[in-house]
Amino acid sequence: MEQDKILYITPAKDAISKEIDPIADIDGLIMDIISVAQVITSCKGYMRFLAKESENSIVTERIFWKKDDFFLDRDNPEVTLILNTLLAFSEKYGIPEWELDRDVKAILPLEYSILTQHAPSDEESPNTFLKTFLSTKISMQDTIIIPVGSFTLFFLDLLNIFTINRTSKLKRVEHCRLYFRNEPGKFPELAACAVGLKPSIILAFITFSTGDQKHVRMCKNCGKYFITPDQRTEYCSPKCRTSYNTAQTRKRQKRNGIEL
Ligand SMILES: [Zn+2]
Repeated sequence: MEQDKILYITPAKDAISKEIDPIADIDGLIMDIISVAQVITSCKGYMRFLAKESENSIVTERIFWKKDDFFLDRDNPEVTLILNTLLAFSEKYGIPEWELDRDVKAILPLEYSILTQHAPSDEESPNTFLKTFLSTKISMQDTIIIPVGSFTLFFLDLLNIFTINRTSKLKRVEHCRLYFRNEPGKFPELAACAVGLKPSIILAFITFSTGDQKHVRMCKNCGKYFITPDQRTEYCSPKCRTSYNTAQTRKRQKRNGIEL
């Protein structure tokens, strides 16, 4: 849906809501999120656009109000690719809540962070877009809706949380409640309940990483993400380990050959 020159994703009028259990298949959920994030990061034009508008590697959703929305250019193949990927994800899991009290933001992947060392100058840029951004957000509070741009940041943020966590700060888990059950004769139990897509995903990831002690790693050979119980695992398969080592040996031999 397009409104005031911004593209949004919202349920169709005849859409039926369904309940999703994020704990049912955590590995599947995490891999689905990572593959959406990878589609987004593979769009070099879009990533460069984000990098240019970011401040110290952090990009906030308000930048989509500053200029023409990147996603209104329907002739751009990157736009089509990202839209189709986001729609397929929404079909399966729904969309995150567009929260009034905080801006959607994300840390850019390392390879794009390099492009963002400058801090944008405030002097000349008029801040009228901020007003439009905030009033739009307030006016849509009771609607199930998310701007396409903010939705992409949602995935970049999760990718960062799942893989390389670049901050050691404690992260607040939003919209969660903790429960404690201590019945006689039974082992005390801690339970948590989350409301909304993002809190549910974070809760699922907490179970994944602290309960099941699993990790998401990127294969040193093929670059694919995979899930492993051992944090030191560097390759997605024995095949990748072998081919990486063979390539290294070959490189070494070649180098030695030239030196001789
Ligand atoms: Zn691999």
